[in-house]
Parts: sequence; structure tokens; C-alpha cells
Amino acid sequence: MSIDELYREVILDHFENPRNKGVLDPCTVHEHGANPLCGDKIDLYLDLDDEKRVTKVTFEGSGCSISQASVSMLTEIATGKTIEEIEAITGSFKEMMLEDGPNVFEEYEELEDLAALEGVKNYPVRIKCALLGWNTLAEALKKSQE
Ligand code: ZN
Repeated sequence: MSIDELYREVILDHFENPRNKGVLDPCTVHEHGANPLCGDKIDLYLDLDDEKRVTKVTFEGSGCSISQASVSMLTEIATGKTIEEIEAITGSFKEMMLEDGPNVFEEYEELEDLAALEGVKNYPVRIKCALLGWNTLAEALKKSQE
């Protein structure tokens, strides 16, 4: 299996078997995000503890496989992490997608699914799909600190 096929399988697996899907009610913070260009919609629900650590993340959403797979990965990655840790991962992810930065994610077992999204940057119109969940997460974390 080529690396491209492997990556496609990872994305398809998250799209067909989304992790942490559902409404979290009550939750610490809820944020809605949309990518009108593609019709992607996401609702993110987060619980944070007193130390600003994300203890639970769920999502509802509809749209293309890239947007939904990316947010499914996000829910797994963000769970158990502090806001600072999430910001660092989001920064590396955006560098890879927007600035041709290195794909550092294969080195970390818990982040390796993110490596599969690198190929999306060959389709500029889809980059917004891959980033939708992460931008929505950033907004949610900002809201949680207000
Ligand atoms: Zn999309």
C-alpha cells in the first residue's frame, strides 16, 4: 500500500467512523464553525477543568470527508491536553497546511493521523475544509478564557 493510499484510508476511516460524535450537554463551551465555500458545518463541545485542561471534546457536523475527518482527529488529539499544548499542535498543523511547513506528526503516535492531511494542501480549495475544526477549536478556547 502506498503512503497516499494509507493516508486516504486514515481519512476515510475517520469520516466513516467519526470519533466523539454527539452533543455534550452541559459543556464548558460550545462553538459553531462553517466553511460556506464547501458547505461544511461543525459544532464543537468542550469540557475544561480548573487547570484549563480539555477533559472532553465532542462534535456534530456535516460536510465533506476532509472537514469531518479532520475534526474527528481533533477530538481525539485535544482530549486531555492543555490550551497551550493545543495551541502548539494547531500552530504546527497550520504551518504544514498553509506555509509548506514540515510534517512533524508522524513522529508522535497520538498525532500521526494528522500526517494524513498533508496531501490536502495539494488542493488549495480544500485546505479550509481541513482547518475548519481547528479554527473552531481556537475560537472555543478563546471563548473559554473570557
Ligand atoms: Zn469541505
